[in-house]
Amino acid sequence: MNQPNMVGSGASAQEPATAVLLIAAWAGLLTGLGEGCLRTAAKYVLHRTVWLDPHVVWMAPVADLLVFSVAGLLLYAAGARWPGVRRLSVVAGAAAGLGVLALLLNYPRLHPGAAVLLAAGLAVLPARLVDRHAHAFRRLVRRTVGSMGALVAVLGVGVKGWQVVAERRALERLPAPGPGLPNVLLIVLDTVRALSLSVYGYGRSTTPELGRFANRGVLFERAVATAPWTLPSHASMFTGHYPHELSADWLKPLDSTYPTLAERLRDRGYVTGGFVANFLYCGYEFGLDRGFVHYEDYTPSLTALVGSIGFGRVALTTYNRLWRKYQIAGRKSAARLNDAFLRWTVRPSGRPFFAFLNYYDAHSPYWPEAPFDRKFLSVEPRSRDIESGRRYTLEERTALRGAYEGAVAYVDHYVGLLLDTLERRGSLENTLVIITADHGEEFGEHGHMGHGNSLYLPSLQVPLLIIFPARVPPGRRVQRPVTLRDVPATVLSLLDLPSNAPTFPGRTLTRYWRDTADSSGGTPSLLLSEVNFLPGQPAWYPIAKGDMHSLIMGRYHYIRNGDGREELYDIEGDPFEHHNLATALPVREQIQRFHTILDSILAEPRPPRASGRAP
Ligand SMILES: [Zn+2]
Repeated sequence: MNQPNMVGSGASAQEPATAVLLIAAWAGLLTGLGEGCLRTAAKYVLHRTVWLDPHVVWMAPVADLLVFSVAGLLLYAAGARWPGVRRLSVVAGAAAGLGVLALLLNYPRLHPGAAVLLAAGLAVLPARLVDRHAHAFRRLVRRTVGSMGALVAVLGVGVKGWQVVAERRALERLPAPGPGLPNVLLIVLDTVRALSLSVYGYGRSTTPELGRFANRGVLFERAVATAPWTLPSHASMFTGHYPHELSADWLKPLDSTYPTLAERLRDRGYVTGGFVANFLYCGYEFGLDRGFVHYEDYTPSLTALVGSIGFGRVALTTYNRLWRKYQIAGRKSAARLNDAFLRWTVRPSGRPFFAFLNYYDAHSPYWPEAPFDRKFLSVEPRSRDIESGRRYTLEERTALRGAYEGAVAYVDHYVGLLLDTLERRGSLENTLVIITADHGEEFGEHGHMGHGNSLYLPSLQVPLLIIFPARVPPGRRVQRPVTLRDVPATVLSLLDLPSNAPTFPGRTLTRYWRDTADSSGGTPSLLLSEVNFLPGQPAWYPIAKGDMHSLIMGRYHYIRNGDGREELYDIEGDPFEHHNLATALPVREQIQRFHTILDSILAEPRPPRASGRAP
C-alpha cells in the first residue's frame, strides 16, 4: 500500500537525488536502445536509405544516458524552488516526455515544435500510470537498469569484437605473398581539383608538399576522373570500369560483379587496409570496402557520439548555427586519418600492405584547422558550406574558394607529414605511392558551385602523381591526358606480377616511361566521364536535365547533356571552357565523331550485375 507522506516511498512524495538520477539513467538507456533499434530497423527491416554507424547500438544509449542524467540533475535542482517537480509521477512523466521527444527527433520531417507538443502529450499517460503503480515502477527501474547497462556494454564489446574476429579470420585466409612485393599506397584527396594546385602552376602555394614529392616520380598534367562525384569515381579506380558499366549510383552501392584492386592484391597475399574520412560514400554501405581486411569508415569519436542521437544532432546544428562552426558528426581530419593509418602499418603482419586513404578535408564545409582556415582568406565567407542551388556573387565565390584552397593546403601538409613518416621508418623506398583525387570542385566557373552537377573540367581534372623509386622515373611530367580508370591496371603492372596474372580493364600508364610493351593490351582508354541524373536539383544545373557524358579526345572536350544538347571546347586554346564550339560549322565533323564514339560505347553489352546492398 502506498504511503504518500513518507519521503521516497509514495508517488506524491519527493524523490531523493539518487532516485531521480536512477530513473533518468534508466530512461536514458531505454531511449538510447530505442534510437539504435529505430535506425537499425529502418535500414535492415524497412530498407530505408539510412547511413548507419554500427557503433550506434552502444553510442546512442551512452549519449542518451548522459543527456538524461544531466536533465535529471537539473530537475532535482529545480526541486529546491518547486518541490513538486521531485514527485515520482513528475520525474517519470518528464523522463517519458524526453524519451518520446528523443525518438521523434529521428524523424526530421516532423517539425520540432510538433515533436515537443506530441512528446508532452504522450508523457501524461506514463505519469498517471506511475502515480497509480509507484512501487511497481520503482521495482522495474531497480531490476532492469543494471541489465540495460550490461546490454549496452555487451553491444559495445560485441561490435568491436565482431570487427576484430572478422579481421583475424580474413588475415588467416590470406595466401602467402610472393617474394619482393612492394607496399602500395593509394591516396585519394576527396574534392581536390588540379586547377587550384600550385604543383600544377596555380599562383597560391596550395600544394608545396605535393610539389616536393612530385620531383620523385611522374606527375600527370591532365588526369581526368571518370565521374564528378565520389562513389562512381572511386568505383572506377577500384575496378577499371567506367561508371555506366557499374552498379554504383546516387543511392546504389558498388556490387560484386567486378573484382576490385583490394581483392586482387589481397589474393596476392597483401594485407589490405582502408582508411576513409568520406564515410558518406566510401563507407561499407556503398561496397568500396570489398577486399579490405581492415576497413575504418565509421569510427567512434566525441562528435560521432553526439551525432548518434536526435538530441545530439539538434545540438550540433544549433551550435554550428550560433557560433558559425562546421562540426559534422564523426568527421575525420587529415591528422586523425594519418594517425589511424600509421598505427595500422606498425602492426606486425610480415606482409606487404595495400592501403587506401581518403582525405575529406577539402570537401565543403571548408573548415581546416588553424592556420589553414585563414591561409588564403581576405574576407570570411558568409558560410563555409556550399548551399546547393544558391546563386553566388563573385565576391562570395572568391571568399569560398579562399576557404577551399586553405583546406587543400591543410590536406597537402598532412600528406607531406605522412610520407615523411614513412620515409623515416624506411618503408617509403619500397612503397608504390599514388596520389590523386576522386573529382574536383566548381566555384561558379560555369554558373554553379560544388561537384556532381556537371562535367566541366574544374569538376573532372584532378592531380595524379605516381612515386616508386624502383620502377618509376623521378621528375617526369606527362602532358597527354589520362583517365583514372587506368589506375588499377597501372598498379598491377608496376608490381611485375606474372604475365598470366589477371589484370584490370584499361591500359597501364607505365607506357609513358617504359619502352617495353605492356601486358594490358594496346587499346588506349577513352577519357570518358559520366554522371547520372540527380533528382531535386535546381533546373539551371546541367545535371537536372538527365544523364550526362563527356569525352576528351585530342584537344577537344565534348559534353552531351541530358536533354541532348552538345557542347565542344578546345581545351588547349580555351582551357577554362568559355567558348562552346558546338554550333560552329568547321567542327561539326568533330562533333559527329564524338557522337558516334559515345553511342558505340554506351551501346556495348554489359554483363548482368549482381544484386547490390541497399545503403
Ligand atoms: Zn568525393
